Amino acid sequence: MFEAKCGDCNLVFSMSEEQQKNVEKEAKAGTETFIIRCPKCHSMVFVHPLVLCGTSNTAPKEVADRRVLCCPVPACIGYVEDDEDKQFSCSECGTVWKNIEEVYRDIELIIKRFAYRKEAYIKKGAKWQSVPFNKIPDHYYANVQNEEVQTSKIYGWRGDGAGKGAKH
Ligand SMILES: [Zn+2]
Ligand SMILES: [Zn+2]
Repeated sequence: MFEAKCGDCNLVFSMSEEQQKNVEKEAKAGTETFIIRCPKCHSMVFVHPLVLCGTSNTAPKEVADRRVLCCPVPACIGYVEDDEDKQFSCSECGTVWKNIEEVYRDIELIIKRFAYRKEAYIKKGAKWQSVPFNKIPDHYYANVQNEEVQTSKIYGWRGDGAGKGAKH
């Protein structure tokens, strides 16, 4: 049984069977750092498959937490991360934003579409900030995951509302 500790809510938990399987798979693939979700607060928890599976006994250097905001892409429960090269990206859905203004634009679009998305953000003037990640309610993530069923409809969602094909 593998254990992990959440850095946000300090919960020490035993990984689910699925998480454990994924960790074993990643260890076989040589992955040093892998992300699982805390079962309580849904924060990202960094685990080290090679260390857990006994292939290596040195943990890699701590991965910096670069999360700045919840990802504003439909059905994505990932986070916008501040890349070193001044870009922003979400490792969960692969979206890349050239600057923070593009992220803000997507946040405004997603809130227009799904009002509960507001629960993850705080508006300060023209800027958007994140609610502390461990203060985001569980139902937020559940709602976001349910957006999946509608993803086909909102494929190319950024175009909607901006004129093209939105209304006849
Ligand atoms: Zn947690
Ligand atoms: Zn994303």
